[in-house]
Amino acid sequence: MDSMKRNVFEIFEKIEKIADPESVEVIAATKTQPLEVVLRAIEGTPIKTAGENRVQELLSKYDERLTWDFIGRLQTNKVKYLIDKVRLIHSVDRPKLLQTIDQEARKKGKLQDILIQINAGGEESKGGILFEEAFEFASLAKSFENIRVRGVMAVTPYDIERSELIKLFDKAKKVFDRLKGDNNDIRHLSMGMSDDYLLAIEHGANLVRLGRAIFGERK
Ligand SMILES: *Cc1c(COP(=O)(O)O)cnc(C)c1O
Repeated sequence: MDSMKRNVFEIFEKIEKIADPESVEVIAATKTQPLEVVLRAIEGTPIKTAGENRVQELLSKYDERLTWDFIGRLQTNKVKYLIDKVRLIHSVDRPKLLQTIDQEARKKGKLQDILIQINAGGEESKGGILFEEAFEFASLAKSFENIRVRGVMAVTPYDIERSELIKLFDKAKKVFDRLKGDNNDIRHLSMGMSDDYLLAIEHGANLVRLGRAIFGERK
């Protein structure tokens, strides 16, 4: 068996030990991986979605055999290229971006699903809104007719203590639960990457974005 496919099955075995695998979605974070590699790795596995973090790269790999999500920083002038192609934009963090997504989605007669990106560690180098801004931003997002808010993506710092990371995951879960309230549209709590996805799932993530755990270290 392809070694990457073996990685995928091992990931699901680990998830099964801590959660109902039906309740957790794994997407492949496919940056720098050629389409053929991605298809080979996930064929016959529960992974159906590729998450790309550059528009150009997504467009060059785009293939209808997969579902595509956008997980990276998004410039407003590139939104128009994504609307036809992506299921979910995980990285929405600015009013201007909401406006542009709404406009472009309307032009194409689409309701665009998005997640609100939260910069859990408040890091300058990362996109995302702060925890305190989440509810105001969510109600703004909900006011756009061609946008549907489906949940939250939390990004966390790389080098922090496990106990600190847990605090941030728990905080993100709280925001998610509050947003969910009685809003049936809210489904996804996207948090956790290769180094911390099991911990994230234990703390409420139901969507994890995995690159290195599937494809190995990036060159
Ligand atoms: C690359 C990337 C991932 C996956 O990272 P790994 O550590 O390789 O699992 C997840 N989310 C985003 C936004 C990414 O850019």
